[in-house]
Amino acid sequence: MKLPVINNRPPEIEMEEFSFQSLYDRIEPVYLDNNATTAIDQSALTEMMKALELDYANPGALHQAGKTAKKLVEDARKNVASFIGCKNDEVVFMGSGSEAINTAIISATSIGHAAYILTCKTEHKATITTAEQMNGYVGYLSVDKEGRFSIDELVAMFEERYRTTCDFSLLSLMIANNETGTIHKNIDKAIELAHKYGALVHLDAVQIAGKKEIKPYIEMGTDYLSISGHKFHASKGVGALYVRTGAPYTALIYGGLQENERRAGTENVPAIVSMGVVAKKYPLFGKKEEQLHRKFIRLLRSRVPSCIINGGDMVGTINVGFQYVHREAMIIKLSQNDVYAGIGSACSLGIKPSHTLEAMNVPPDYIHGSIRFSMSKYTTEQEIDRAVEVIGKVYDELREMGRGIIG
Ligand code: PLP
Repeated sequence: MKLPVINNRPPEIEMEEFSFQSLYDRIEPVYLDNNATTAIDQSALTEMMKALELDYANPGALHQAGKTAKKLVEDARKNVASFIGCKNDEVVFMGSGSEAINTAIISATSIGHAAYILTCKTEHKATITTAEQMNGYVGYLSVDKEGRFSIDELVAMFEERYRTTCDFSLLSLMIANNETGTIHKNIDKAIELAHKYGALVHLDAVQIAGKKEIKPYIEMGTDYLSISGHKFHASKGVGALYVRTGAPYTALIYGGLQENERRAGTENVPAIVSMGVVAKKYPLFGKKEEQLHRKFIRLLRSRVPSCIINGGDMVGTINVGFQYVHREAMIIKLSQNDVYAGIGSACSLGIKPSHTLEAMNVPPDYIHGSIRFSMSKYTTEQEIDRAVEVIGKVYDELREMGRGIIG
């Protein structure tokens, strides 16, 4: 995997790190921020470059070159449809996961005079912010300390709907949480309930795609489901929305007749091609990733015994709470030591703690020091070993700096 080498440190810091560097033949960054974005798959890149350079005609053109480009898009649609587990014409290509989520929420709530939207406190901001823009009421399910909603609260909220003036409703839930990797357990029951109460269902599958099978969630009867290419080794700038045949649909972009009149604008053929290539490989996390996940937690717990794991059961996502340190300081120091991790959500930057961890009631002495490490199929055992060593060193340094200020 090729990674950008970000190295603008002054030479004396290089010297300081020499002893650390001598442990390894060559220092390459350890990229553990795959829930933010992943490296592109090499064959996806090759096919994408071909589409960019050679098959660059407009898929809407009537000539042969146009037909070739159109075929690339339709082949990709077929691959993405079988990756999701749906019919080809139930896949609408989008520009991102956020666009897919926006489209689903707007589609499901544009038909009545006011919408009753039920979602969860730990959702991605693409869901929360869009729901807040709609005309109507937004209800937030709370979560337990693992980050899961309760079916009883969901029933109570649907019952509440009849005491409002809203005439249409949607339940929007993420399958796996981007910050903690928590997978909701009762999605099948939630879909059944929603349908019983006359609500449509959207599932945000952006983080689960490429790690676990999506098909079971389609079989549970969801009406909409969103995925994003760059989270599973395709290009950035491409997402897909599953729209169940017959589910209401409102286009967000008007103009040409592309995507069966569901999203105007010339198709981003190279990015769509890349998603088709990766989808065809049907990427899933397996035994190797599971072992690395377990090893990371085991090593980390023995190196930093005071750390806690926040929620999480999806292989590859580990949200670690470090006591009495600040997450930004930790991320920057890790980065200076060539280990890249994430806060969990770009929207939670700054002094305000993550809304997800707040909803899970993560203790105050840990919430500000919570960091997400996320793996991909390219992550190696050597990287896990080195990451834990660096994390331990950085944590000790930060605690030493903070001595006398806190605990
Ligand atoms: N939903 C979840 C759970 C995500 O993690 C993300 C991205 O971080 C999104 C939606 C938005 O996806 P995109 O970056 O493709 O807009």
